[in-house]
Amino acid sequence: MQKKIRNMLGEKLLQEAGHVLEEYFHQPLEEAITDLRIRYLIDKDAREPVDILHGLHFSGLFYQIHNDAAEQLRRALARFVDGGYGLCLHCGDTIPEEWLLRSPLLSYCSRCMVNMRPLHKEEKEREMTTDYV
Ligand SMILES: [Zn+2]
Repeated sequence: MQKKIRNMLGEKLLQEAGHVLEEYFHQPLEEAITDLRIRYLIDKDAREPVDILHGLHFSGLFYQIHNDAAEQLRRALARFVDGGYGLCLHCGDTIPEEWLLRSPLLSYCSRCMVNMRPLHKEEKEREMTTDYV
């Protein structure tokens, strides 16, 4: 992945992180970043989205939120930092960059998403049934 594209995707992921922070901690992204700089989780001079995402990932901030949005974000951050971002979690194929730019949290390719859809529905139904037992 080109550095320019990676930075663009990094910016998108930062936006997503910002939404989650605002919603659950009522904290603007900038404030969270400042806090992480004070705690040396982000270098005081680091400005690249990649470095900031690195700090956000290791802060464990999003592990305090238990819902799908935070979990999706956590997974995307981990993969962005540790590798594997942009590859389908199921088959390992590359997810087109244009798609990631539109939905930076995407973790499956189109083929796998189509194949998995019925499974997801079944799983949901099973969960619902279990709830009422
Ligand atoms: Zn796939």
